Order: sequence, then C-alpha cells, then structure tokens
Amino acid sequence: MTKSPVALIRSAEEAERLDDEEFDGEFLESQPFDLLDAPVIGRLLQWRHSRTLLQIPLLAVSVVMIFEGLLGPTLSPKNMATVLTWVHFRGALVLAILCAGNLFCMACPFMLARNMMRRWIHPRFTWPRSLRNKWIPVALFVLVLFCYELFGLWASPWLTAWVIVGYFAAVLIIDGLFTHATFCKYVCPIGQFNFIAATAAPLEVAVREPEVCDSCGTKDCIRGRRDASSPLVVLQRGCELALFQPAKIGNMDCTFCLDCVHACPHDNVGILSRLPAGELMSDPHRSGIGRFSRRNDIAALVVVFCFGALMNAFGMVSPVYTVESWLKHTLHFDSQATVLGILFTAIIVIEPALLLGLAAWITRAWAGVRNGWLAIAVRYAYALSPLGFGMWLAHYGFHFFTGLYTIVPVTQNAFAEIGWPILGDPRWTLVGLPKTVVEPIEFGFLLLGLAGSLLVAWRLAEDDSEQHPVRAFAPWGVLCLVLFVCCAWLMNQPMDMRATMMAG
Ligand code: SF4
Ligand code: SF4
Repeated sequence: MTKSPVALIRSAEEAERLDDEEFDGEFLESQPFDLLDAPVIGRLLQWRHSRTLLQIPLLAVSVVMIFEGLLGPTLSPKNMATVLTWVHFRGALVLAILCAGNLFCMACPFMLARNMMRRWIHPRFTWPRSLRNKWIPVALFVLVLFCYELFGLWASPWLTAWVIVGYFAAVLIIDGLFTHATFCKYVCPIGQFNFIAATAAPLEVAVREPEVCDSCGTKDCIRGRRDASSPLVVLQRGCELALFQPAKIGNMDCTFCLDCVHACPHDNVGILSRLPAGELMSDPHRSGIGRFSRRNDIAALVVVFCFGALMNAFGMVSPVYTVESWLKHTLHFDSQATVLGILFTAIIVIEPALLLGLAAWITRAWAGVRNGWLAIAVRYAYALSPLGFGMWLAHYGFHFFTGLYTIVPVTQNAFAEIGWPILGDPRWTLVGLPKTVVEPIEFGFLLLGLAGSLLVAWRLAEDDSEQHPVRAFAPWGVLCLVLFVCCAWLMNQPMDMRATMMAG
C-alpha cells in the first residue's frame, strides 16, 4: 500500500524523532555525568592531596571527640562524643551515600593515621588467604550492634570515646602488620556497611573509556607508579583493595580513595553517574570480588545489613522492653546479655534463614530454577540490600534530623568548659526538626528502598527463568513487602531520642 505525501512526511518526522531519541539515549548512555569534570569540586578532587584535605578535619574532630568523651560532661546529650557519633555522624554518612557515594571512607580519619604510621613502619606480612573474605566483618558487624545495645553506647561518652580509641588502635595494629588495605577490605565493619549501602549510590569510580584501557601498557591504576631511577620509591599508590579498573564493577570494596584516579597515566578514571543499585541486577565477574552469587560471605553481610537494621531499630522502640521482660520472666534469665543474645539470634540468624530459605525453596519448586536452594538464597539475598539501606536511612535519618541542631549547644558548652565561652551560653532548647516533618522523609526512604529491592529481585528473576519470571520473583517480592511492613511498623513506634536532650 502506497502512503500519502502527508503520511510520508509524518513517517519521516517520526523517524527523525526516533533517531534523535536514539541518539540522545546513546549519548546519555555513553556520556554519564562525571563528578571530576564538575567545576571547582572536580578540580579539587583531582588534586592529589584532596583526600588528605578531607581527612584532616575529621581526624581533628575525632581527637576532640576522644578528649571530650573522656573528660567532658558525663550526660550524653551534652557531650560532643556521643552527640556527634550517634546523632550526626551516622546520619551524615548514610545521606552522603544516598546523594553521592562512599564519602566517609573517602574522608576516613583512621586511614590518615595509618598513612602517617606507614611513613615509618612498613608492614611485612600478607593477610592469610583463609581470611580473605567477609566472615570477620560479618561477625564484627553483629558484635558492634550487640555491644551498642548491651552497653548503651549512645548514653556513655566515656565508652564512646574508647570505641573511637579502639578503632584507631585496631587500624594501626592490623595495617602496621599487614600489607595493602587489609583493614578496609577484610576487617572494618564500618567500611563493609558503607560498601553494601553504596551499592545503591548514584556515583561510582569507573573507567571513562574502556578502549583506552585495552591499549594501556602500564595498568598503573592497580600497580601504582614508582620512581624509574629508584623502583622502591612509590610515587603514587595503585588500588590497595585489588580492584582493577577495567574489570571493576560497582561500589563493593571501593573506598573512593581516588588512588586509581591519580595513578592512571591516561586520565581515564572518573567518578561516574550510574543507575543506583544497578550493579545488583546482574552477576558478572567483578575485579577483586568475583561473582556475587558465589560469595556466600558477602551475601551473609547483606543479610546482616538488612536484618541488623531491623534489630537496631527494634532495640529502641517500646515493644522491645515488653519482649525482653517476657523473655526474662518466662525463661528466668536475669542476664541482659543472654536476653539480647536470644533476640539477636532470632532476628539476625533464625528469621532470615527461615524467610530466605522458604523464598528460595518456592522459587526453585514453582519457577523451575535449577540451582540448589542455598545458591538461590545467596543470589537473591543481594536484592534485600536497597531495602536494608532504606531502613538504615529512615532510622539514622530520624536521629539526624530530629537532633540536627544539637551540635550548636554542645559546641558552645565545650568551649565554655575549657574556659573560653566565645560562642555564648549553650542554647539547650535547640534540638532539631519536628517529627511531623521527619516522619514523611523516613517513609520516603523506606519506599525508595522497597522500590530498589523489588526492581533488583525482578531483574534477577527475569534472568533466572525466562518462562516464569513472575513465579521466580513472587516469593522475593512478598518477602520484600513483609520486611517493608515490619520496617514501617517499627518506624511508626515511639522511638527513644537517644543522645539528645529529649532522650527517654
Ligand atoms: S584505568 Fe588507566 S591505568 Fe588502568 S588500565 Fe585503564 S588506562 Fe591503564
Ligand atoms: S583505588 Fe580502588 S578503592 Fe580507591 S577509588 Fe580506585 S577502585 Fe576505589
């Protein structure tokens, strides 16, 4: 059938429009936003000492917090150590990941102390092969959450100060003995928290043009650069976390240290925009990590990240006290540690084992996925990461926003206490944003996490079962919804206003 002239013109216009859209699509795909190209901040980050510049203030604040924690007011809402650590630092950390990426690791004060130490002390050992996994951080992550509840760290400036001191000591001992970034990659629970959360971040350190890497003869991004005349002198470190840029995928294990950016002789590494959580939707081989689906240890970390978020929030709402007293009376346990141990085991071990096991079994039986149930559970466990992050965001965001201004009177007080009241009398009435403002934000974070988890689970299901993607997805979709409802219920409970003057 021949087309009329008008139809032909419309077809031509349509084709042109589609071409334009296709071109735009390709353009967007091949030209992501690169933070290093941004005015001012891009130039700053490209400066070789930018990381040190960010680390110095955090190191100074850490030292002040240690002194304030040990010698300052014993009441936690009046002490900088507790207020900064448990109100501001945690909230700022997760919000930075949501808006950009793993900025805390980038500005990590512990690494500045380590780098200073390594000017004089050169580690001689390599981390044992059997420990090159995430099982130690999984255990430490749970231990930190457990100690936080058991010792009420938010209420003790003295203990908080010793936690910071202990952290510095652990970094210096481990990285004083073992080469590369052993502490970051195989020990640090804060780092692992950041790595998992940053899988949902919008930015990633990545190669700008893969073809340039194909013809690159030096691979300095991982090897680093040495002085040609004295090869023992390192001019610029390569990636200490064993992430080779051309094969690096996603934010797992990346501390945003930017060593690869400074080492690459072709200026081929940027901080690029990407689809948040997109790295969880496929399972390629990743440099320094391997395939996610074969990393039971990282899957366990994600599970602890997600269910630990539930436990951590549960620990500060009033129903926890009812459950604890019921456990004490029914089982006749006097020890708080035992009661907490039971709660942690139930929420962080038994509950996920049952829920993920059941979902995996249904996926296998109903959608005909051939893998064993453990392999399926490991593969889909990664889909829980965005929801877990949403939960941490809602929880830490709650403390951050409701205690936002508490830093003002605490700083005024700290100056007054050292006999230099230049900031005036502490205004203890300054607290933070009202709950009516904060609660919708919390709910938005949860919804964002739920949407991310559902999308990841759907994409994995599509890959696993071409014939029955809905059947493969359904159990994980239901699991995400159940967890979302639990999170929403928890966030709806009256919460302890820990480390603020409104503390219960
Ligand atoms: S990132 Fe730079 S140093 Fe690394 S392989 Fe590519 S071009 Fe070479
Ligand atoms: S050197 Fe390694 S850890 Fe540092 S930003 Fe580059 S890839 Fe990430």
